[in-house]
Amino acid sequence: MKKTVFCKKCLYGENHAFKITIDSEGICSGCRIHEEKNTLDWKYRWSKLKKDVDSYKSKDARNYDCIVPVTGAGDSFYTVYIVKEKLGLNPLLVNYNRQYNTPIGIKNLANIRRTFNCDILIQTINPISIKKIIKTTFQKFASIHWHAIAGHTVFPVQTAIRHKIPLIIWGAHQGVEQVGMFSHENEIEMTRRYRKEHDLMGYESDDLLDTSGILTEEDIWQFRYPSDSDLFRNSIRGIYLSNFVRWDPPTQNKLMVEKAGMISSKIQRTFDTYENTDDWFYMGLHDQLKMLKHGYSKVTDQASREIRHGRMTREIALKIVSYYQSQMPIYSKNFCEWIGIDYPSLDFILKTSINKPFVEINNMNTQNKDINDKQLEKLEKVFITNSKPLIEYIYERISIGKGYP
Ligand SMILES: [Zn+2]
Repeated sequence: MKKTVFCKKCLYGENHAFKITIDSEGICSGCRIHEEKNTLDWKYRWSKLKKDVDSYKSKDARNYDCIVPVTGAGDSFYTVYIVKEKLGLNPLLVNYNRQYNTPIGIKNLANIRRTFNCDILIQTINPISIKKIIKTTFQKFASIHWHAIAGHTVFPVQTAIRHKIPLIIWGAHQGVEQVGMFSHENEIEMTRRYRKEHDLMGYESDDLLDTSGILTEEDIWQFRYPSDSDLFRNSIRGIYLSNFVRWDPPTQNKLMVEKAGMISSKIQRTFDTYENTDDWFYMGLHDQLKMLKHGYSKVTDQASREIRHGRMTREIALKIVSYYQSQMPIYSKNFCEWIGIDYPSLDFILKTSINKPFVEINNMNTQNKDINDKQLEKLEKVFITNSKPLIEYIYERISIGKGYP
């Protein structure tokens, strides 16, 4: 078997799901592109962005200036903060309801619109279709989050066309941030192709229809990406702030917790208290599936990011990843109950999803989980919390939450 090459700086190997290249010095493309963050002229990049978006300001205040897709966690607060307070735009916030909501996520969505005084549009698809889609993607390619990503990436685009708001402003571009797929200077914009290949694991909604007849047209039409002619006719663009603002999620999120009412919390299987606090299953079953399929989990992404920002050494990061990865996912049984499958069926899909070579490589790379309290304490200075740990909330999966006015 060919030996997998790992980056000498971060924790990614050639087996990264987005594909990564490692240069002759042993450094990956993600780390190389990250180096741009310390060399680019961010003042100049900001002025470029400002000039670009100024032309989208509504002349007569009869429509929104742009759309900002949001969730109840992660970079949403900071993105809205930049768009509303720093760029002076009036955004329409758009949220796809993934129906795995935690009370923290619902509160964050309420706080974000209250803090920044924004209107929000929330799309909730009927639970029968959602459950059918989840069962299909779970059986077909072991994903319980396809619908969440598909909805999050399509609903803003459909809204842009329906409401004639041509500019969509996203936070970070994952391909640039994680694996250095493009330079910041490429100023990459939203595309159908990237969405299908990377966000949706190669499956657009129509690819889910098959002869079994479980899913019908009625279940999937809401996830269909608008046609090229509709996009073109309405001049729809989606830009990423991370190409114009030096992106550093923990620093940005900490600021939002301290100043803007964002709620952060300790969640399962990671040290990051800002990301995925809105979702009961993301760091549980979903993360377990990611690890079985690709050989690494979300905490590897987060630890690699921390290495690049100079807040963690590679040696400590390996221990931290091992420590969190060895924790058993919780709430999986609740997922089975909601979706209507029995636990042995879940177990069967988990077992058949294992990509053995990847998992073995990962195990070899992260064996030492001897981590001490001092190392965890150090993390708590960057990843602050202002609420009790998520697990202490009584189990409550909220399908539709009005918020906490
Ligand atoms: Zn690297």
